[in-house]
Amino acid sequence: MLRKPFMFLLALTLVVMPAAALAEDGLPDFVTLIATEDVMSHVRALSVAIGARPMGSEAEMKAAEYIAAAFIDWGYEVEIQAFETTPPAHGEEAKEPVTSHNVIATKAGDEGIVVVGAHMDSVTAATGAGDNATGVATVLAAAEALAGVATTHTLVFITFGAEEGGSPSGASYYVESLGEGVEDVIAMINIDSVGVGDALNAYAGALVTWPGEDAPEDAAPEIEGGPVWVRDLALDLAAEMGLPFGTTPDTTWGGFTGDWSDHYAFVEADVPIVYFEAWLWEGEGIENPWWGAETEDGDVMHTEGDIYTNVKPAQVEMTAELVAATAAAIATGMAPVE
Ligand SMILES: [Zn+2]
Repeated sequence: MLRKPFMFLLALTLVVMPAAALAEDGLPDFVTLIATEDVMSHVRALSVAIGARPMGSEAEMKAAEYIAAAFIDWGYEVEIQAFETTPPAHGEEAKEPVTSHNVIATKAGDEGIVVVGAHMDSVTAATGAGDNATGVATVLAAAEALAGVATTHTLVFITFGAEEGGSPSGASYYVESLGEGVEDVIAMINIDSVGVGDALNAYAGALVTWPGEDAPEDAAPEIEGGPVWVRDLALDLAAEMGLPFGTTPDTTWGGFTGDWSDHYAFVEADVPIVYFEAWLWEGEGIENPWWGAETEDGDVMHTEGDIYTNVKPAQVEMTAELVAATAAAIATGMAPVE
């Protein structure tokens, strides 16, 4: 779900060289390894071939099957975790509970766990191409790129069900299912909506308390910032790889993010996170500095404009490259864990 300017995208053609530094560290050169078609084929499969994927629907299950088959192909051990959830009422009569699913792919290592996740469900408007076939595509591309990389820690890739207002969400259900084992999660990387918004961002997690209903719309929430090392690692890697990632402005979120996606269940369980999103926080058309806007013309997510042809392939590809590099740096033990 989130924003920043076009200028950064112009830097794209310069990208190739700096990634060599990662190769010298013994990690693959993900910028070369991950190609546009790797990620966009998944966006097409989910948003064009399957279409809208509301929680508990046959389409959400089809997405789960497509994702599970891909993970299995690359040699991961796969579990499909079913759970009951209640969809949001959206002002109508309360909805009946439905069965949704998380797809969990594991490459076993030591007791430390690195989780890389994105939600696969969508609202019914349009086809959930940006929100969040793009995030799932980055998870899949990173999983493929990391399948043959020797990692120290256990690497877990998850595509969650029921993010769009499900009670519980797939992410909450997964965290709950870990019990005290959640203490073994070293870091969580969440990817939600990276292909439509105008600028790529990486944020750290924070506990957020929103102002009461009577407060002005742009009133500041209370932000209790969590660990920042996963975000800073990602931003350092982005700089090294020549990828144009920013974060939230000092005048509002200050590098942190709110409670509107799957990372929040992990933040509440004290897990350090980074959240990747494409969103604008400053500039033309930004009326509420705490919400920002997806593009200069406003939000596309949850509208009929959220379709495949509105996804910017380069943004999805670059996010996949950075997700793979960040997960690899942590899971191999190369990055210092705080
Ligand atoms: Zn989303």
